[in-house]
Amino acid sequence: MYASELRTDLADTLAEIRGAGLYKTERQLTTPQSAHVATPAGPVLNFCANNYLGLADHPAVVEAAGAALDEWGFGMASVRFICGTQTLHTELERRLSEFLGTEDTILFSSCFDANGGVFEVLFGEQDAIVSDELNHASLIDGIRLSRAQRYRYRNRDLADLEAQLRAAEGARRTVVVTDGVFSMDGCFAPLDGICDLAEKYGALVLVDDSHAVGFVGDDGRGTPERFGVADRVDLLTGTLGKALGGASGGYVSGPAEVVALLRQRARPYLFSNSVAPAVVAGSLAALDLVRSSADARERLVANARLFRALMADAGFDLLPGEHPIVPVMFPGEDGARTAARIADRMLAEGVYVIAFSYPVVPRGRARIRVQLSAAHSEDDVRTCVRAFEVARDAVGAPPAPSSSRA
Ligand SMILES: *Cc1c(COP(=O)(O)O)cnc(C)c1O
Repeated sequence: MYASELRTDLADTLAEIRGAGLYKTERQLTTPQSAHVATPAGPVLNFCANNYLGLADHPAVVEAAGAALDEWGFGMASVRFICGTQTLHTELERRLSEFLGTEDTILFSSCFDANGGVFEVLFGEQDAIVSDELNHASLIDGIRLSRAQRYRYRNRDLADLEAQLRAAEGARRTVVVTDGVFSMDGCFAPLDGICDLAEKYGALVLVDDSHAVGFVGDDGRGTPERFGVADRVDLLTGTLGKALGGASGGYVSGPAEVVALLRQRARPYLFSNSVAPAVVAGSLAALDLVRSSADARERLVANARLFRALMADAGFDLLPGEHPIVPVMFPGEDGARTAARIADRMLAEGVYVIAFSYPVVPRGRARIRVQLSAAHSEDDVRTCVRAFEVARDAVGAPPAPSSSRA
């Protein structure tokens, strides 16, 4: 009866989103996820997936998942605690714990769900959660679902973190929560400094390592390994949906009692279906590959270095860093439009990148976020840089002033 009013209202909202230039369209792929993909308009080089190690279509991962369909069936038709746990699921949890160097691990359908479930269970009214302002949306939502007191510190700002830890003194439990890598900027959380401060104030540390697990650190164990603090981070969350095969699934890893209690009380675990067996088997194969992926990790680092060097030479304004996320900045009033036009033009050149603008990033800080993969060749990287130059010329944007270049 009210549906027509609802439709009119929503059409207005949609028009507002379009009018502000913020409407997100989804490009369709006609191939598996890979460095080289195709869209209905033709083949493109892909520089916007989280496919850091190139495992999303790796033959060993695909084969393991395919074999699991025959051996373990398609779906579990149950949540874990009723009849949704196969030995395959516990095997993946055991293997993740071994890889991360933790006592135990609990699987969720996604990292979004892991973050949605962990805080409410562990932190109540007498507790304090101290959170980086740029943390992932799923951490923000998960923290909101808890009744804990909330403190927010400026992105990666240790002085402000200390001020917030002081403000939180007196809480029963305090936890510092951070992304290991901030995905819009491609920069690392200063985990050594964070662990020092947490120790000083008797706080726990929780790191969401979604953009690092599998490829950051000498053995790919993530940001705690890179910063030499693996034994000082109390709780890890992460995704299987990025470097570790890229399908789906997430986890919380840490002390045995934490995992045991989450199995009793975490709502997304109790009330949502088990990860599909084929995905679990594919993720196990991805973990195997990560162990023997030292050369893929080196290739990834080399690709990111090459891209940064060539882009700086070509006069683009990059956020400095070492992560394979490389933000190419288009600052100022007109930046959002310029970034969007350049990304569109690059697609016509056969290179797929995505422009980000407000509200995903702050106003005036529009960017094209390029993501390198070990699956890219040196030629692919050079093709991407050339497409940036061609597109910049085509839309008539000037090179960045040299003072702003990384
Ligand atoms: C991608 C991402 C997630 C979400 O992971 P899913 O498994 O896709 O739900 C959560 N946290 C961070 C930091 C991420 O980058």
